[in-house]
Amino acid sequence: MDSIEVGVLGATGMVGQQFVSRLARHPWFRCTWLAASERSEGKAYKSVAPWKLSTPIPDGAGDRIVDGCVPGRGPRVVFSGLDASVAGDVERAFAEAGHIVISNARNFRMDPVVPLLIPEVNADHLRLLDEQRRTKGWKGAIVTNPNCSTIVLAMALAPLRQFNIRSVIVSTMQAVSGAGYPGVPSLDILGNVVPFIGNEEEKMQTETLKILGADGGRTPYPAVVSAHTNRVPVIDGHTMTVSAGFDRQPSIAAIADAMRTFAGRPQELRLPSAPQPPIVVTEEPNRPQPRLDADLGGGMAVTVGRLRECPVLHAKFVALGHNTIRGAAGAAILNAELMHAEGMLL
Ligand code: NAP
Repeated sequence: MDSIEVGVLGATGMVGQQFVSRLARHPWFRCTWLAASERSEGKAYKSVAPWKLSTPIPDGAGDRIVDGCVPGRGPRVVFSGLDASVAGDVERAFAEAGHIVISNARNFRMDPVVPLLIPEVNADHLRLLDEQRRTKGWKGAIVTNPNCSTIVLAMALAPLRQFNIRSVIVSTMQAVSGAGYPGVPSLDILGNVVPFIGNEEEKMQTETLKILGADGGRTPYPAVVSAHTNRVPVIDGHTMTVSAGFDRQPSIAAIADAMRTFAGRPQELRLPSAPQPPIVVTEEPNRPQPRLDADLGGGMAVTVGRLRECPVLHAKFVALGHNTIRGAAGAAILNAELMHAEGMLL
């Protein structure tokens, strides 16, 4: 298969760095263009990206000159790790100019004709792209991935749809890398918990129902989600405790089995970034933990543990996912892999 040229908008940020790192060793995509703000434009990538990954900047990327986010300059397929304050205007301009934008930003996630995609969960939502082209008049397209906490929750809930989920209460413990760089000041987070992340609870409560919903998410899944979101002094990996209520109490064994056997299009198609299995169910009483489990499946698996009965709702468990991989760059790359496998990037 010939490799497909791709670029990265917001390449210097936390998510952008994950894109650069993961694309450098991707079997299908070849990253030839990096773009960021005017602050970085015209400079060598290594001089403007505050590199925070434990692997070195890939060969060829460090000396690449960063471009501005100007539509038409980059390849047709661009990943976006842009700050939300600019992503709306920039991504729309790129889609209008004919680019296929595969975005992490929140700006278009809840647009009724923009897929909010988790390939294992709602691959059929890509059908929205026909309507997107008709109604928006864009020559290109925008596809989004969910918020970094939402994706963990939605993955864990997806196998439970067969039991008719009715109510969910989720409390998160979110890593500092989720706030970008430099992010939360050390004096605010060291030895501390910050019980507020702007707009995060609303995103979890609405995005989850679009993802699990029907008709491309335009008919939201008929459940109610209540989220509490907290920032904790962890570097990578969002952990969350979840209680779920159903039409009728399913057995814990049936829930565990549904999670363990869950798989979707990425596993069927053996996409390069697809974790096998997508949900790892642990038996240990003190897992999952971010330091030990966030990297499972190359950072693409969601780990679920402590599955047990809930005396208020029906069942409760702990879920964990890597926020800048499964929650951002890895998720977007998996979206692009699915689109390529379905002939949508040609
Ligand atoms: P970040 O580290 O702050 O990076 C932001 C990027 O946006 C940088 O490349 C920055 O370029 C660029 N940018 C800022 N202003 C710009 C402008 N006016 N024009 C062009 N580029 C501009 O943020 P992040 O954590 O990587 O997050 C990026 C996006 O992904 C956000 O929308 C975020 O909500 C979303 N997201 C993040 C996570 C996560 O775990 N971190 C997870 C899911 C989704 P310069 O370096 O040149 O300023």
